[in-house]
Amino acid sequence: MTGIFDTRIEYLKGVGPQKAELLNKELNIFTYGDLLQHYPFRYEDRTKFFKIRDLHDELDNVQVMARIKNVELIGAGGKKRLVAQVFDETGEMEMTWFKGIQWVVKKLPIGAAFIFFGKPAQYGRKWTMAHPEMEPITAANEKRNTFQPVYSTTEKLRAKFLDSKGISRILEVLVPLVFPQIPETLSPEILHQYQLIGKQEAIRQIHFPTSPELLNRARKRLKFEEFFYLQLRLLMMKVTRTEKSRGQILSNTDLLTDFYKNHIPFDLTNAQKRVIREIYGDMKSSRQMNRLVQGDVGSGKTMVAFISMLIAISSGAQACLMAPTEILATQHFEGLKNYARMMGLNIALLTGSTKKSERKIIHEQLLSGELKILIGTHALLEDVVQFQNLGLAIVDEQHRFGVAQRAKLWAKNEEFIPHVLVMTATPIPRTLAMTLYGDLDVSVIDELPAGRKPIQTVHRYDKDRLKVFGFINEEIKKGRQVYIVYPLIEESEKMDLKNLMDGYESIARAFPQYHLSIVHGGMKAEDKDFEMQRFVKGETHFMVATTVIEVGVNVPNASVMVIENAERFGLSQLHQLRGRVGRGAEQSYCVLMSKYELSKESRIRLETMVRTNDGFEIADVDLRLRGPGDLMGTQQSGITDLLIADLSKDAPLLTLARDAAQQLLANDPELTQPDNAAILRQVRQQKKTAMNWSRIS
Ligand code: ADP
Ligand code: MG
Repeated sequence: MTGIFDTRIEYLKGVGPQKAELLNKELNIFTYGDLLQHYPFRYEDRTKFFKIRDLHDELDNVQVMARIKNVELIGAGGKKRLVAQVFDETGEMEMTWFKGIQWVVKKLPIGAAFIFFGKPAQYGRKWTMAHPEMEPITAANEKRNTFQPVYSTTEKLRAKFLDSKGISRILEVLVPLVFPQIPETLSPEILHQYQLIGKQEAIRQIHFPTSPELLNRARKRLKFEEFFYLQLRLLMMKVTRTEKSRGQILSNTDLLTDFYKNHIPFDLTNAQKRVIREIYGDMKSSRQMNRLVQGDVGSGKTMVAFISMLIAISSGAQACLMAPTEILATQHFEGLKNYARMMGLNIALLTGSTKKSERKIIHEQLLSGELKILIGTHALLEDVVQFQNLGLAIVDEQHRFGVAQRAKLWAKNEEFIPHVLVMTATPIPRTLAMTLYGDLDVSVIDELPAGRKPIQTVHRYDKDRLKVFGFINEEIKKGRQVYIVYPLIEESEKMDLKNLMDGYESIARAFPQYHLSIVHGGMKAEDKDFEMQRFVKGETHFMVATTVIEVGVNVPNASVMVIENAERFGLSQLHQLRGRVGRGAEQSYCVLMSKYELSKESRIRLETMVRTNDGFEIADVDLRLRGPGDLMGTQQSGITDLLIADLSKDAPLLTLARDAAQQLLANDPELTQPDNAAILRQVRQQKKTAMNWSRIS
């Protein structure tokens, strides 16, 4: 919005410089436009009036119309309170004030009628309301039929009379002032097709609803608009990229055929085959690939990555794979090394701890093209790492990387941006994926390799520890290995380390006959690696660790995952951790240990884990519990900018908005039709103010 909407908020009648400064600081409200878009976050139902007789325990805030019978001061000193006896035709109740008594008492003449608003509570047989809101009954408010908006505000603003009501009051000044100038931002066609009300009416209703129906339509309209522009922006980015970024054509499949015929260690699942076909389709076309591969833990993403590398190398290009931690990078390297050697391909590992002399060789061989596959951590991004012809860049567990870091990968090939494959085990609900990755193509590996037995998950309280130890012992006797994982929360790193060490000692005491590995964030990379390798080779029975092992680590013989203080983990993290087991042919188990007292949310999380192994179901619960703002990477996508729409609740509307955006671009890709002028204006406007949108989010 421009013009009047850019006016600084201090110029609004009733605001002034002091309040303006607070609005800036506390709520990020700088202009008329900002205030207009400070939408209420909920509404209080003021459509109903309760009779005193009908009050009951489960009511939240309610309205009562009643007349003052009598007012008295009770008690003295700190316990002094003002009590007003009030009545309606069904009974009597009390209104009570503990503070501001002198002020209130003047407003309560005997016999006057008020609307009181507050939460009723029962003391003995009498209903009371403490510090109710009140207003004298008038002809207008007696019959009103409204939802009263509630605005978010802060203590500091309240102190300056900008509580929810105060904000409503300044909006009462603003809305009529700017009303005729509020521009329509959707086309007549979209308004008609999706039966949306106009922008002006929507803004008026959202702040001053006149009926529940109109309020609903206003909310729908504003949410739709928000989703629509989000999707439009993503789709336009995708179009631009497809047109502008030429891709290196990588179509040769000689190596692939050789690998399939002579070396592949197992049959690919149908899902793997399908995803590989999708990737090949991209790589052999002349457009640059930007594809996300989503696959639950254990679905076999690494093999898909390797086969994609073969496609690139067959056509004379190089490939790299970047992982978020040294452990993971090393593990990928160890796994892929064997395949690469079978195929006669030169492969190397580059991490922070690679020796200088080795680095030099790697740099040289990359430039000469001799080195075909480079696996590594962030170290890959350094400027000195130059390829002869990087054709494919794979990023594993992408949410660990920032956008800027990933963008550095694109710059590694000057002629063509490398094809990009992003792999993630974090199942992302459809609604979120559409938004987060709206400009990426998405492939899903929705099938686990045959023969896997679903992991059995149980929840046990700390007092059952001895039984759990007994069970672990049985499993180890069968030849299996066990993970024991402790939470790591940065604020209390010391405490967590102590927990881990105490745990380590108690396990060492309980199982003197077995060997233990330990890995935590405070250890040097080579020590971690050493411990990890001992576990991988089966020299140790236990891996006692913090969440550093969360992603990717693959030890098929490990069949038990014990998660300590499981109530402290988020759902997606629990699911990731559980995914470390169940990778072999044996029955695997996940034991969630927790204290006895649990918050409602923790309980839902643990119950969800016990109930299902389905990553997508888990992600949906997670989204509902946490809201989308918390899910990884959302800051970069503009999702947290949503003012009114809610990804977890408004999914159907998101789908509609995406359809609308798609249809619009199909009919009028350049937005040149007169009917779409408003949309074009809005898109241009947003581009100016847009945050730094990345090529890939
Ligand atoms: P993730 O998708 O979690 O990265 P991995 O790629 O680590 O999974 O694969 C998990 C395990 O499954 C590995 O031991 C891998 O060799 C094995 N695997 C992958 N694909 C298949 C398949 N089609 N059949 C049998 N085992 C497979
Ligand atoms: Mg993996």
